[in-house]
Amino acid sequence: MDWDSILKAYPNDTAAILGIRSLREKVDAVMAGLTIPLIEAPCREMDDFNPFLQVFAPICSALWKEISGVDPTFDMTGVLKAFIADSPIPEIPESEHDLAEAVMNAVISRFLHLLREKNPGLVPEEWSKGTCPFCGAFPKIGFDAEDKRTLACLSCGHTWRFPRVTCFVCGTTDHTAMGYFDAEGVDGVKVYFCRSCGHYIKIVDSRVRIVNDPETEDALTLVMDSLAEQEGFVAAE
Ligand SMILES: [Zn+2]
Ligand SMILES: [Zn+2]
Repeated sequence: MDWDSILKAYPNDTAAILGIRSLREKVDAVMAGLTIPLIEAPCREMDDFNPFLQVFAPICSALWKEISGVDPTFDMTGVLKAFIADSPIPEIPESEHDLAEAVMNAVISRFLHLLREKNPGLVPEEWSKGTCPFCGAFPKIGFDAEDKRTLACLSCGHTWRFPRVTCFVCGTTDHTAMGYFDAEGVDGVKVYFCRSCGHYIKIVDSRVRIVNDPETEDALTLVMDSLAEQEGFVAAE
């Protein structure tokens, strides 16, 4: 993550960005002492995460206390389960939702990055789907080079090759259903959309733009997400 580029791009959001950076640093510090297990299969389904809930819960609780000053008043394991399943989390008051999501996201994502690095052999060499072969998440961003397009998973950091002519969500190859647009002032980034399923993805052209890591590129191109949403498209989840 290139924090300097992000701080420069959003001068009015300095406090929020520094808050996220600080959370990430706390997560990194806690995770540094963790033994990352060898696993037998990727974590593409919700149940695959069950063995790790006992690992995530105390880390999330400790971070919660460090940031908010008090112990969580809810059962962190249950909340994590709901969060991973993308279910509503009624146990947490509305005012604390953002913090809870930020903490859980940061912990799970860092763990998945470490887990993938520790278990590199689990990702198949050939993968034709639009979801991440390691953690099952949909990509939000991809990269075009001269000879190929790669999609990037922001959850675990894996990237994989994917055909330009196929929708990464519904799989259609109907070129009349797919299109793209760009925006003035944002060089080398296009929103590719699919009218069949209504989803979009941001594609960064590495031939045109000096490319940072996927997370930084995602953060630097948030205006493209707003434009895509204004056009009625949604990011895949
Ligand atoms: Zn992934
Ligand atoms: Zn589609």
